[in-house]
Amino acid sequence: MRTRDDIDVQQAKDELLAFAGKNGAMVCGVAAADAFDAYAPEGFRPTDILPRAQTVVVVGGNPPRAGDWASPLVELQETMGTSDRINALGLRVAKWIEDRLGYYAVFIPPGVNKGNRPFLSIMLAAELSGCGSRSLAWPILHPEYGMLFYSAIVTTLPFPVDGPMPVPACPAPACVQMWEEEATPPCLSTCALDDGGCLGGCLADGRMAERQYDRERCTTRVYTYWIPGFQKSLEAALNEEDKERRKMILYSSFFTRTLWSMTYSAQNQAQCYECVRVCPVGLPYRTKK
Ligand code: SF4
Ligand code: SF4
Repeated sequence: MRTRDDIDVQQAKDELLAFAGKNGAMVCGVAAADAFDAYAPEGFRPTDILPRAQTVVVVGGNPPRAGDWASPLVELQETMGTSDRINALGLRVAKWIEDRLGYYAVFIPPGVNKGNRPFLSIMLAAELSGCGSRSLAWPILHPEYGMLFYSAIVTTLPFPVDGPMPVPACPAPACVQMWEEEATPPCLSTCALDDGGCLGGCLADGRMAERQYDRERCTTRVYTYWIPGFQKSLEAALNEEDKERRKMILYSSFFTRTLWSMTYSAQNQAQCYECVRVCPVGLPYRTKK
């Protein structure tokens, strides 16, 4: 398959997959840049980031280790995110596309642009590239590995695209069965919207028919460390007039752990994971002796 400027785009894609896999990607896929137009608002589409963007490459991997899932210490995962490694790989892929293939490539940085929105929805990119599918618990799930971290690269190179997965990973067969018996799957029963939790939705004919997520409620429960935790603690410290109490806030183990998670981990998980911990997708992969 050749383009006008005579690059064999299928060969370029094969090389991309090999490079990504060799450098630690567990999954790699490509979405068409214009596929975002139907879902992403203006200002947050691939061509807003890179004029003449043709495709979006997604790499996924570096999930928490099986031992992290098994540990009862939530502070472990708070402090030791693994998503920074997938971002490093995203940067390498962007550099590789430019150096090796001679096309523009922009790594989508983690963090937010305007209005607390990411520069480009990485979840949407992962879905449109077939690296995973959306779930009732909200993270993108890969059928074999469950929850992964993802990184996206916008490029002017017209790689052959993959498109979304034909069969979504969610709901798992066990969840369909639980739904038929109890009218709830494991994730919703862990944090049900109508019971003070954050997740709602339903299955119909063995498929996800509707999903709801109270982002604000989840955020106040989950983002109690990392950058939002730092902002909250700093505000409390700045408003504290008593010098000794101010010192207690700034030198507390909570504030120290928050700084560790921001600086050492670079980026941390967005959720408390309890809804994902009970999810059967990827369970064999994260089950060890
Ligand atoms: S991350 Fe935690 S608080 Fe948020 S939806 Fe999942 S279980 Fe609920
Ligand atoms: S527990 Fe079941 S329904 Fe919930 S996200 Fe996982 S697969 Fe989907």
